[in-house]
Amino acid sequence: MKVLVLNCGSSSVKYQLIDTDERRSLATGSVSRIGMTGAVLSHRRYDGDEVKLSGEILDHQVAIEYVLSILLSKNHGVLKDRSEIDAVGHRVVHGGEKFTGSVLITPDVLKMIRECIDLAPLHNPHNLRGINACLNLLPGTPQVAVFDTAFHSKMPPYAYIYGIPYVLYKRYSIRRYGFHGTSHFYVSRRAAEILGKPIEELKMATCHLGNGCSIAAVDGGVSVDTSMGFTPLEGLLMGTRCGDLDPAVILHIMGREEIGLGEANTLLNKHSGLLGISGVSSDMRDVEAEAEAGNRRAQLALDVFTYRLRKYIGAYAAAMGGLNAIVFTGGIGENSAIVRSKTCQNLGFLGVEIDEEKNAQTAKQEAVISTDESRVKVLVVPTNEELVIALDTAEIVEKAKQGEETAPVGTS
Ligand code: ADP
Repeated sequence: MKVLVLNCGSSSVKYQLIDTDERRSLATGSVSRIGMTGAVLSHRRYDGDEVKLSGEILDHQVAIEYVLSILLSKNHGVLKDRSEIDAVGHRVVHGGEKFTGSVLITPDVLKMIRECIDLAPLHNPHNLRGINACLNLLPGTPQVAVFDTAFHSKMPPYAYIYGIPYVLYKRYSIRRYGFHGTSHFYVSRRAAEILGKPIEELKMATCHLGNGCSIAAVDGGVSVDTSMGFTPLEGLLMGTRCGDLDPAVILHIMGREEIGLGEANTLLNKHSGLLGISGVSSDMRDVEAEAEAGNRRAQLALDVFTYRLRKYIGAYAAAMGGLNAIVFTGGIGENSAIVRSKTCQNLGFLGVEIDEEKNAQTAKQEAVISTDESRVKVLVVPTNEELVIALDTAEIVEKAKQGEETAPVGTS
């Protein structure tokens, strides 16, 4: 089956066309700066052919039309006709408590995703724009929603309930949801395969470290806790997000700086994290380079980042009652030997021993970077969220074709 995977953000659409039978990417790319001047479509075909086009792209529908035309183009395309796209798989950030797995998009499902907007006002509206555009542009092509939250939907209540009046949980659905679910799902499965062990027997801490960062405790293949919460702001230090913070700090800053909700939101989401502490950049490469050059605040940002991650690994080992593997993924996790090494320092008491040579040599590839003696295996596994979305989509569409009940599948 050929599945078009779409990830629609506020001003961007990332796409990938995947042949799910061969688990192969046929083409991948993105449209950026939608609705701004100088929008750019970058497209890469499986054989390495690359093209960049710029122009005015008003909205998500026009962006997806461009994507379809480049997929069909004579020189850079991989399709002869739109009908060759068997299904579209959409990344949807928030499924709330309504969705515990991927689902075929129907009018009822659309309504329920709309109802989740309140929980993810920065993300779900853009995901919905992508879905609506595809309903217009590819009428009759089945579409599936794959939720970032679904893999964490089996967390026990004691892991997801906050210490606020229970009535607020019931009234506003305020609880931990967790995000990056497809990534934690994928890398935990791949790690089990690489280790040659049934996932049911493994306790893992999976660390997704990109611009947004989260860690999950995956016990027997099930996410039993994760660091992102009601929103993707909680937990680890991130590029521009603060992660864990005493809630009173926000109230204090709002009072002292005389700022409102909007500005406080921007402060915590856009001006904090690595950028806020270092004053240099939200990009880990810049922070590492500055720290190396002797910049004390960049060094502090790096120290806070790895110290907090290490604390979470310890906490999740305690939560699961053991730890067999730590898995690093995301742009930082896959590339930064320094972050991996600093994070695993002082974890010897848990049985973690990094092979520094293997660690230093590993970038963007699957590898076991712990020593042979290490009781806890440490792995690098490049994530592949698009493949998970495509496979879930193919499975659901296949079932729907056979007239089976389309119960949620996949990442739950
Ligand atoms: P997103 O969350 O937007 O998908 P990525 O997973 O691509 O982001 O991760 C982006 C992060 O990865 C940035 O902080 C970037 O600095 C970091 N990164 C990429 N390459 C390296 C590298 N070689 N060393 C350290 N960090 C890196």
